[in-house]
Amino acid sequence: MLSSSTSTLRLHQPTRPHRRHPPAPAAGGATHLGPSRRWRGPPLRARPQRIRALDAAQPFDYESRAAGLLEERQRLKIAIVGFGNFGQFLARTFARQGHTLLAHSRTDHSALAATLGASFFTDPHDLCECHPDVVLLATSILSAEAVLRSLPVHRLRRNTLFVDVLSVKEFPKNLLLSSLPPDFDVICTHPMFGPESARDGWDGLPFVFDKVRVGDCPARRARAEAFLNIFECEGCRMVEMSCAEHDAHAAETQFLTHTVGRMLAMLELRSTPINTKGYETLLRLVDNTCSDSFDLYNGLFMYNKNSTELLNRLEWAMDSVKKKLFDGLHDVLRKQLFEGSAQAPSTSNVRK
Ligand code: NAP
Repeated sequence: MLSSSTSTLRLHQPTRPHRRHPPAPAAGGATHLGPSRRWRGPPLRARPQRIRALDAAQPFDYESRAAGLLEERQRLKIAIVGFGNFGQFLARTFARQGHTLLAHSRTDHSALAATLGASFFTDPHDLCECHPDVVLLATSILSAEAVLRSLPVHRLRRNTLFVDVLSVKEFPKNLLLSSLPPDFDVICTHPMFGPESARDGWDGLPFVFDKVRVGDCPARRARAEAFLNIFECEGCRMVEMSCAEHDAHAAETQFLTHTVGRMLAMLELRSTPINTKGYETLLRLVDNTCSDSFDLYNGLFMYNKNSTELLNRLEWAMDSVKKKLFDGLHDVLRKQLFEGSAQAPSTSNVRK
């Protein structure tokens, strides 16, 4: 459970203990941030709330005003760097929650960004000069280092929060710590779901995070909490763990799943009139894993030191199962040859 940065926040905790509300849209779309940060996306979906005395606040209700301020503070200006499949997927939820979105990618995605109310920048200098609160690195694992180095971070505010969502964690942690100025905050995260598996929402899905470096001042802690709150208020299961621990688990779970999915895809499985539930699960696994880019899968292998061992164990497991089957088959054949009615073939009948 994330810690609350102020006692006011605790007062406004929703009835579900592990979930917070997204920031409410300001009336008429305008925010305290001025007209350039006007909300232009689809209407925000209000989450059902219990009616509390606070909801009927009077004009001089200071508690209510403080709550309003807090909600304003939770609205972030987020720059998504790597606006591909996953970056766009995240952007939809960020936009719905009312955050201000900027985006930058190798390819020009400006038309799609416009549909989300996001400003697209082909030049990273222009993006950085907008001084986002958070820079979210959502580029491929393989390109992360080159993309990070191409950002003019000196144009950002001095203590900008960097967050990555790469599917491996030790690599970006080391990369961010070694490349960014020491004043920048760093949170390494892995939303353990994607556009396919979270088609129907994020409720109950795991969100792994490691607050690698968050400056010890209330504003920086509040900004980190506001970012994590995006996932918490969508109902994600918030899992705080070290990057090293994540990679050990992820080889056993995610890399294994993707490898099996890709192996099954090689078999070109088809739906049949007699599909069992188990077989349907395999077909879905192929869909879920192969809809991700091969770069993503390759990154899981290249940048997680635990993946090689997993591949070796998988090979050993396949050989062991095969050996068990063939040993059984040989036993039957031997019995037939030497104990059963069938005569052992004479040497002249045995093919050489
Ligand atoms: P991906 O293939 O891993 O990454 C695609 C993104 O990387 C695109 O924005 C692409 O730019 C950019 N990119 C690729 N090669 C590049 C290069 N040489 N130079 C500059 N940019 C390059 O697919 P993804 O699904 O969108 O994943 C993005 C990140 O999210 C990855 O780190 C992945 O591990 C992580 N993630 C993905 C999922 C998921 O379910 N897909 C879930 C959790 C985390 P363009 O815009 O130009 O194409």
